[in-house]
Parts: sequence; structure tokens; C-alpha cells
Amino acid sequence: MKYKRILLKLSGEALMGDRQYGIDPQRLAEYAQDIKEITERGVEVAIVIGGGNIFRGVAGASNGMDRVQGDHMGMLATVINGLALQSALEDADVQTRLQTAIKINEVAEPFIRRKAMSHLSKGRVVIFGGGTGNPYFTTDSAAVLRAIEIEADVILKGTRVDGIYNADPEKDDKAIKFNFISFDEVLKKGLKVMDTTAFTLSQENELPIIVFDMNKRGNLFKVVSGEKVGTEVNI
Ligand code: UDP
Repeated sequence: MKYKRILLKLSGEALMGDRQYGIDPQRLAEYAQDIKEITERGVEVAIVIGGGNIFRGVAGASNGMDRVQGDHMGMLATVINGLALQSALEDADVQTRLQTAIKINEVAEPFIRRKAMSHLSKGRVVIFGGGTGNPYFTTDSAAVLRAIEIEADVILKGTRVDGIYNADPEKDDKAIKFNFISFDEVLKKGLKVMDTTAFTLSQENELPIIVFDMNKRGNLFKVVSGEKVGTEVNI
């Protein structure tokens, strides 16, 4: 395996499968199998999960809701997704811990870096819920922050497209995919990989990002074993 410790970022929308809202148990079970496959090869896996399938603060604000209130709802949505993913992983006999950036002690552990690292070294999958715990941030920022904190080798951003293109591949059939692109080039070309806060945090800490299609079974294994799948962003 190329990577020893990874931070997998899954968007909330990825959990919807073909639905318009909520969580698709089938999709969740598939993700659990893919994650299990790499843990069995000794890879340490931390996961940051989004909440966009349930609630986004920005969407609330555009309907007149107070933004911070909406972001609190969004952060709680990520905890709901974290619990669902935890359940799917445990159904697949994978040991897990859920740690949250907002304390919900009856439901999950609070985020404690040393504890998270200890769980990882024991082979447990650690899911980080609640984003960064602060409004006006995204779970992409949480993913980069946690990845740096736990000294992950790489961030794997699992999406429904198979990498970074020079145009939106869902709208432009002439769009060309990059196998590798530098942080600088992403910024120069104005490509969307993560929001700017998350992206520059990754760049400043020289933490590579691989964007790949998580909905293709076995892709996660390929990425972690070093196969050229998706697009790598690096210095
Ligand atoms: N959120 C937040 N602070 C964070 C992370 C998330 O306030 O550190 C809120 C924000 O409202 C966001 C929602 O949680 O819209 C869901 O997260 P995100 O949009 O990143 O989820 P994804 O797009 O990955 O599903």
C-alpha cells in the first residue's frame, strides 16, 4: 500500500445515492465494504463526512434563516451521517469510533487528537463529525484540518466524478481530465477542487489531495495502493 494513514473526505451528497435527500443504505454498505478492504491491508483510515444531503447553512441563509443557526444545523447533519456510516462499518465488522467537534457526549466521543491517533494505530476507523465545530467553515476545511492534525499522508476526496477536469465533465463532453496538477496550477486555472480556505490550508501544509470517483467499487483500494486513479494535486 502506498499510503499508511489516509483521511477520506466523503460529501453528504455522496450518501444519497440516486435519492434526492437523505441516506441510501445500499450506498453506505458499499462504502463500508470498500473501507473495510483497505483497513484489512493495514491502512489507517480517518473519515470526515459532510452534511449536504440533509442541511447546508448557506441554503438556510438564502431562505432568510440566520447563517450561524443554519451552520449549526449543518454541523449536526454531519453527525447524523457519521452515525449512519459508523453503523454501516460496524455491520461490516470494522471497528470504529465517532469523534465530534461539538460535544454530544451521550452519542460520540469529543474530538481529542491524541485519542484519535491512538484509535488509528489500533486499526480502528475514526469518523470525524461536526465539521470544524465553527460556522462559516465547510467539511472540506475540516477534512484538511484533521488530516494535518493526525499527520495523514494524503486526503482522498471521494466524489462522483473521476478527477479534476479543465471544464465541468457533466456539462462539457470535451472536458479533459488531469492525472496530476499542482496546487499553483489549480489556483491559476481557477479550478474547483475544494473551497479556497480548505485548499490553501492543504497547499500551505504540502498535504496532497487525490480526487477520485468513490462510487466505483474498488477504486478506493486502487488509489491507496498507488494506482493512477483520479487526479492528484501536489506541490
Ligand atoms: N458546517 C459548518 N462548519 C464546519 C463544517 C460544516 O458550519 O466546519 C456546516 C455548514 O452549514 C455546511 C454544512 O455543515 O453547509 C454541511 O457541510 P458541507 O456543506 O461541507 O457538506 P458536504 O458538502 O460535504 O456534504
